[in-house]
Amino acid sequence: MDYLPFTRPTLDEETIQGVVDVLRSGWLASGPQVAAFEQALSSYVGGRAVRSFTSATGALEVALQACGIGPGDEVITPALSFAATANVILRVGAKPVFVDVDLATRNLDCNLIEQKITPRTRAILPVHFAGLPVDMDALYDLARKHKLRVIEDAAHAIGSHWQGKKIGSFGDIVSFSFHPNKNMTSLEGGALSFANADELPRIDQLRFHGIVRGAEGAMDVVVAGGKYNLTDVAARVGLGQLKQLDGFNAQRRALAAYYFEHFHTDPPCLLPARGDAGHSWHMFAPLLPLDTIKISRHDFIQKMHARGIGVGVHYPALHLFSLYRALGYSTGDFPNAERIGRETVTLPLFPAMSLADVERVCVAAAQILRDAKK
Ligand SMILES: *Cc1c(COP(=O)(O)O)cnc(C)c1O
Repeated sequence: MDYLPFTRPTLDEETIQGVVDVLRSGWLASGPQVAAFEQALSSYVGGRAVRSFTSATGALEVALQACGIGPGDEVITPALSFAATANVILRVGAKPVFVDVDLATRNLDCNLIEQKITPRTRAILPVHFAGLPVDMDALYDLARKHKLRVIEDAAHAIGSHWQGKKIGSFGDIVSFSFHPNKNMTSLEGGALSFANADELPRIDQLRFHGIVRGAEGAMDVVVAGGKYNLTDVAARVGLGQLKQLDGFNAQRRALAAYYFEHFHTDPPCLLPARGDAGHSWHMFAPLLPLDTIKISRHDFIQKMHARGIGVGVHYPALHLFSLYRALGYSTGDFPNAERIGRETVTLPLFPAMSLADVERVCVAAAQILRDAKK
């Protein structure tokens, strides 16, 4: 049987041909394809201001800088995410202040935010984990009450909806990733959707060398900007993907629903929250019952691999990495993030998968856990 990875991008022939055309066009860096991609993304999120970047990591860094966040400032963020979410806070010189997440939704627990707010707090940087939106009412109520900026890490959540509204179509600043593992790709890439179009010039400067163009071609540099502009090749891939995104996400939802029907193990795993129709199912990640089985997570992953099935780990708790321990965080600080970090396994879920593939994963996991029962 073919190896089933935990994720794989789907590129259609039309997109591949489009890339060939871009390569032949002679315009490779940011040009007409980038403009078209940003226009298409903006339409997708209801006409908001949108800028593309070489990665979501770059986009998040620019978002923090655009908010004027730097040394002496604090940013509240979940203890469970990809390293980029917290690293960018350090990269602009600010301090990440972690909060624990909910065991089922894996999203930061909004009830824990307020006790972390200090006079230095400038922003909240939540993650819509696995494509399940955080409680946007609770989040933005807090942000308004304490006059905080919100930078949403929506790397998993393009096409997700909160109470019928698309993530990125509202909210302060929203960051998407188009890394090949995400729900759509531009090879590498990311984007910001932001509420306040007056921030556009500043974001453009931070994205590209701080350059400002004046009359008659005059050029000035006003800030030590970065260099995060997307290539036209990447943008062409993104354009092809964006057209297919809603279809991709519909297939992800169907596969996730099938997992909920067929993923039954003894001992049982703790399944992620089901969410509603607005969930874009970036991944399906149960928690292994490590206390009641004789094997480790590593063993489980090896045994799945031996059956031709790829399994990922998303993610170890952030605060237990050396970088964050050095800031004073330690084991025991965020029990849910730590438990998820220890027990989570990401099972295959991507649009080109079939229901039979899901069935195969369910059977393999059930066998392995049954054989490993204490
Ligand atoms: C992938 C990811 C990022 C970073 O995205 P890049 O485009 O690879 O820079 C940030 N946050 C989360 C939650 C991610 O999953």
